[in-house]
Amino acid sequence: MVEMIYAGKAKQMWSTEDPEILRVVYLDQATALNGKKKDQIKGKGQINNEISSLIFTYLNQQKIPTHFIKRLSTTEELVKKVEIIPLEMVTRNLSAGHFASRYGVKEGIRFIQPVEETYYKSDELDDPFINESQIAALNLVSSKDLLTMWQISRRVNELLSELFLQINLQLVDYKLEFGRLSDGTVILADEFSPDNCRLWDLQTNRHMDKDVYRRDLGELTPVYEEVLHRLQTVLNKEEQ
Ligand code: ADP
Ligand code: UDP
Repeated sequence: MVEMIYAGKAKQMWSTEDPEILRVVYLDQATALNGKKKDQIKGKGQINNEISSLIFTYLNQQKIPTHFIKRLSTTEELVKKVEIIPLEMVTRNLSAGHFASRYGVKEGIRFIQPVEETYYKSDELDDPFINESQIAALNLVSSKDLLTMWQISRRVNELLSELFLQINLQLVDYKLEFGRLSDGTVILADEFSPDNCRLWDLQTNRHMDKDVYRRDLGELTPVYEEVLHRLQTVLNKEEQ
């Protein structure tokens, strides 16, 4: 039976006839502060689906192992079902957001080497920071698989920093999620969109990501649309 197996803050996950494949539905919903700020934003689901599909298609082409199979419709895509590893893998190229507030530094400092952080994915606990020994203590993932996840994250950083530079955007920071296929292979899952990364216009430093919503800087959809249009100028649309 085809049924909704998970209703998240930004997406729904549906089973399909194939037990190894899920259908993702992107919702017109924006949340911040772990769901405490919440709004319906018309068109957001469609734009994020288009952006994430373009980026995952590009990552697949670049031989990054991902869950993405194909975009199905304006708001839906097909992905390989994984068991999500409950870690949010954050990489930062410049200081922003919680890094700036936690350590009392200004935003926009470029790091000599990207900063890598892990958070325990748990809405109830507010996604607390977690280090490698804590990950081992809680047995969340083996050290070998954690290394694989960071190796993939670093390659994603190289590929996407370069891609965004081509369209005059700085990839400031981002969050990735990984999961395991039924045979245990670790692959990149979830989405890549302005909902889970920071993008600053190279010339003006304008925020072109969810900070527009988090910080009430204006309307979200025109900004996300601009990111999509810039991406379409460099990525092949036929693969969508
Ligand atoms: P949240 O759970 O934070 O509200 P979403 O609304 O984006 O986030 O919900 C999507 C959920 O589906 C997330 O919990 C994510 O970890 C999970 N997910 C993403 N990709 C896959 C996949 N390929 N297989 C199974 N679950 C996935
Ligand atoms: N991020 C995310 N989901 C989260 C927390 C962070 O996608 O639950 C992303 C966020 O969009 C940013 C990066 O991870 O691109 C770093 O976020 P930060 O720790 O600065 O927290 P934030 O200020 O976004 O709450």
